[in-house]
Amino acid sequence: MLIDTHCHPYMCKHTDIPTYIGNFKSAGGTQMISIGIDIETSKQSIELATTHPEIYTSIGIHPSDIWGLDLETTMKELERLYLANTEKVVAIWETGLDYYWIDQDEEYKKAPPEYQEKILVLRKELQRLFFIAQIRLAQTYNLPVVIHNRDAGTDTLEILKETNCQKFILHCFSEDLEFAKACIDFAPECMVSFSGIVTFQNAKDIQETAQHIPLKNIIIETDAPYLTPVPYRGKRENESALVAHVFEKICELRSESRDEIEKQIYENSRKIFRL
Ligand SMILES: [Zn+2]
Repeated sequence: MLIDTHCHPYMCKHTDIPTYIGNFKSAGGTQMISIGIDIETSKQSIELATTHPEIYTSIGIHPSDIWGLDLETTMKELERLYLANTEKVVAIWETGLDYYWIDQDEEYKKAPPEYQEKILVLRKELQRLFFIAQIRLAQTYNLPVVIHNRDAGTDTLEILKETNCQKFILHCFSEDLEFAKACIDFAPECMVSFSGIVTFQNAKDIQETAQHIPLKNIIIETDAPYLTPVPYRGKRENESALVAHVFEKICELRSESRDEIEKQIYENSRKIFRL
């Protein structure tokens, strides 16, 4: 009984959807949550969820996809999409802060140095506004917020505290034990979601986190088609069926029995997403 709490099946190139779902079920999968990263993919995800009983979806705007969007119009559209599909939309996703990609584009690199700092300040502010607006939308409908955080842990936690956002998932966890503990201290019901990264040999901080945080705060995901877990890393496109390898790694790291871990992770996923 495994739930892949974060995947993008509409992006996978190597399998069609029926095979994708079939592989997942053969690997012990029961439900998956397909994640939209902008309006277009949120609609694609809703379409998948309404035509397949195993698929649920979340809608939202990724922090790297907000450029050029009008905040108010975008929030209205997200709200409309949610209200038209309340049965299958289980979260606001994937929102948050991404300071890694924020200065990697040509426009930024070509800007004169004296403007670069200003561009960064403005971009960070815009990410913050979109993040807060999506938290507010989630709070209005009592939905969990799925958080994308890359190199922005301190600011992310600050915004969560500022908005008193208690119901959230740290998607594709990539910080350390101290950060996870700080989040759980602030929001005891939050979930830390481990992806294929936990199977990577050099992911010591993430493995240490998976080993020591309470089991009641753990869920798992693939983020397919990205982040293929070991032993397929670098060899093939990721898919939801490989969530079984993430699960195996968690079992290897923890002291509880396999059955207990499976049951608890399953319950955690159902509880936070109300599946
Ligand atoms: Zn993702």
